[in-house]
Amino acid sequence: MVLHHGVAQSCRSLSGTAPNVRGRFGRYGGRYVPEGLMGALLELEDTYQDAMDSPGFRNELNELLRERVGRPTLLHSIPRFTGLLGTPGVRVWLKREDMAHTGAHKINNALGQALLARRMGKRRIIAETGAGQHGVAVATVCAMFDMSCVIYMGADDMARQSMNVLRMKVLGAEVRPVYSGGRRLKDAITESVRDWVAHLDDSYYLLGSVAGPAPYPTIVRDFQTVIGLEAREQVLRSEGRLPDNVVACVGGGSNAIGMFHPFIDDPGVRLIGVEAAGRGVATGDHAATLSAGTPGEVDGAYSYLLQDEDGQIARTHSIAAGLDYPGVGPELSHLKDTGRAEFRAVTDAVALRGMHALSRSEGIVAGLESAHALGHVLGMGERGELAPDSVLLVCLSGRGDKDLEIATNELSAPADA
Ligand SMILES: *Cc1c(COP(=O)(O)O)cnc(C)c1O
Repeated sequence: MVLHHGVAQSCRSLSGTAPNVRGRFGRYGGRYVPEGLMGALLELEDTYQDAMDSPGFRNELNELLRERVGRPTLLHSIPRFTGLLGTPGVRVWLKREDMAHTGAHKINNALGQALLARRMGKRRIIAETGAGQHGVAVATVCAMFDMSCVIYMGADDMARQSMNVLRMKVLGAEVRPVYSGGRRLKDAITESVRDWVAHLDDSYYLLGSVAGPAPYPTIVRDFQTVIGLEAREQVLRSEGRLPDNVVACVGGGSNAIGMFHPFIDDPGVRLIGVEAAGRGVATGDHAATLSAGTPGEVDGAYSYLLQDEDGQIARTHSIAAGLDYPGVGPELSHLKDTGRAEFRAVTDAVALRGMHALSRSEGIVAGLESAHALGHVLGMGERGELAPDSVLLVCLSGRGDKDLEIATNELSAPADA
């Protein structure tokens, strides 16, 4: 199949192009880690280069993506939702990562990294999770490859994403609650790294987004670029041309960079990342890292982050657990500074509107993360920001089953956008 052939090829060439030496994207990225971790990161980098140079590795990955993940995922238009935009001739194409096995894009990366772990002879996998989607994806691949699986999750996230906690347990993972700090993703990352440092010989740290020290941002981006490569071919086939706008939500940034990357050299394609403005950026209760943050060091890399005047990491808020993170991947930081991608932030209320609009117009229940992208697209239409006859490509990063309780509670007490 053409698409899969393309994926393998591009994984290879992408890893050779960016980032530049020492894992930098412009001034962002790098490896800000304790000396004890440096060796493990360099070993991972070597293994990754080796794997990507190996046709056997790439063939196995592509076959698993097809047979076990269900790739290529669907791309289809959403005419009733598009009608809500109020702009004549516009077409919106939805990339259905929610249809991938386990219900989100996270599995693309989890699968690729599990193959790397196996190649390194590591049979114990450590991971952090926020919404639980990454934890579920990791627990799934650990079951597939007979690996033991320890997932760290903030205690507050466990409470609001209890269904995913149960899924991880059923899949055989050990879920360890994290009570320190803000009891969320940031704290789960800290605990995962602590565990990794103590078990470097037999454990692999399977990072869930394009953040963290090099080489993780490159590895995760390459494994997620399958989204954009497929979508590019699918849009070209359906429209006969490239989209005018490509829109994706941004937490750590993996579904966004995976979608954006194959379009970066197409100057006519506008790349729009949508962050979580929570209760409003002005309230301070948000997770709009690129829109409202400043560069600094977070989780082993130099990138935009949300920090207070003393350089302390700020407490974040989003209705979407998967976006509730004060950092962002270094490559997106670079794309912001160069102006190649633009970033907008929408509130919890706008995201809920996006979720309900897609549910009722198309029968698709989006995850609250993806709903930020949908809500922003609705807003663009309503504000008259879309040209007539323009083509939009929107990443539906995951399904909304995990968010049903939150969404129905908020329905009975709707907030203002
Ligand atoms: C985890 C998650 C996100 C946010 O992570 P990124 O790395 O920014 O993609 C977005 N959508 C869904 C459905 C998720 O599970």
